[in-house]
Amino acid sequence: DACCAGPLPVLGRDVTVPLVTGGEVTYAALDYAASAPALQRVWDDVAAYAPYYGSVHRGAGYLSQLSTDLFEQSRATVAEFLDCREADQVVFTRSTTDSLNLLARALPAGCRVFVFETEHHASLLPWGDAQVTYLDAPRTPAQAVETLERALADRDPSPSSRLRSSRGYPNGPALVCVTGASNVTGELWPVRELAAAAHAHGARIVLDAAQLAPHHPVSVRELDVDWVAFSGHKLYAPFGSGVLAGRADWLQAAEPYLAGGGASRTVARRTDGGVDVEWHTTAARHEAGSPNVIGVYAIAAACKALTEAGFDTLVARERHLVDTVRAGLADVPEVRVLSLFGDDAPRVGVLSFVVDGWNSSHFAAALSAEYGIGVRDGLFCAHPLVRTLLGGDPQDPGECGAPEAAPGLNAIRVSFGAGTPDEHVERFLGAVRELV
Ligand code: PMP
Repeated sequence: DACCAGPLPVLGRDVTVPLVTGGEVTYAALDYAASAPALQRVWDDVAAYAPYYGSVHRGAGYLSQLSTDLFEQSRATVAEFLDCREADQVVFTRSTTDSLNLLARALPAGCRVFVFETEHHASLLPWGDAQVTYLDAPRTPAQAVETLERALADRDPSPSSRLRSSRGYPNGPALVCVTGASNVTGELWPVRELAAAAHAHGARIVLDAAQLAPHHPVSVRELDVDWVAFSGHKLYAPFGSGVLAGRADWLQAAEPYLAGGGASRTVARRTDGGVDVEWHTTAARHEAGSPNVIGVYAIAAACKALTEAGFDTLVARERHLVDTVRAGLADVPEVRVLSLFGDDAPRVGVLSFVVDGWNSSHFAAALSAEYGIGVRDGLFCAHPLVRTLLGGDPQDPGECGAPEAAPGLNAIRVSFGAGTPDEHVERFLGAVRELV
């Protein structure tokens, strides 16, 4: 029975924290959406490798050679984990934010960007001088697809553009950026359908999989997305690395994200006093400087660990936890769970809620101080979405997450995953009932 397979071992299972009421209790980490605890397996793999790490792509010594091999194997492991196409490139970055900023720098001239206002700021903000169309919050997955279709069609000059768009970008290049699973509601977005809509209108699509990849298999081929971005620290590999994987053409036509060693193939002084640079045309083009060798190794270790544990098992167990939390919160009338697509919409282990009469920050502080439970409060770097969900104005700059914020201005988020034991969600539900 998949739901009874039990949690995967993670670091911090035995960490105790003091309670304001006296004594101490084991810490219940219920903030996986911010950063997940490391899988023990990832930690062990990194510890086994640690004595051997060295510089990659720049050393003649045995350990540099070994590290270079492992670094490139890690790239292959990530490509396999994401079920990438043959010609796709995997670029190692610092995080999802970094990956999307990299892609933003690689947009072709005149590229238009389409993004739902419900996105995380990492998807909303990096687009620089590009013309961005912010799409209204949809209330169903189907409405998301319709909204995107309509916005892309508005940009098409004629009804025949659909046919012509298959031959390139007759209406200019466009990029859609969409989340796979919301970091606020945990709700799954109809990525495959959005990708089909984008492609039908000659646009490309990047998937922000920061919250999806830790909970669900992500197949670039099946979803037919052009790029995918995710972060190691949410995938149980907390060492400051991330991934941008997908089509090579825009990336290789762009200026290097960082200029420096590693990205350059040759550099020569010119007679006129300047320098000529020939940049790499592989992933290295955007990986200048010495990379985060341990971070990359850890991401690959996490990909292997999750694959071996089996997403069927992980998804089934997480569904059991989500159902438990949902049912438990539904029993408390003062609690309102936030959702765009309706209470029954499928979601990963991320739920945000507000409690009648409570300031969310005080509620989160009480969960920590009185029960040893770590959640997050605030607007979760998705201000327009949380304001919409709270019935406010997505255009109101307002106040974000300050402890003195009035009740109703922010929310509480509980999030969990492969390492979460039943006891943590039971303690959480008991605490909510008691506090209310
Ligand atoms: N997108 C989503 C959906 C996220 O939840 C997050 C992190 N909260 C990010 C992007 C940014 O990830 P990072 O902070 O690792 O860059």
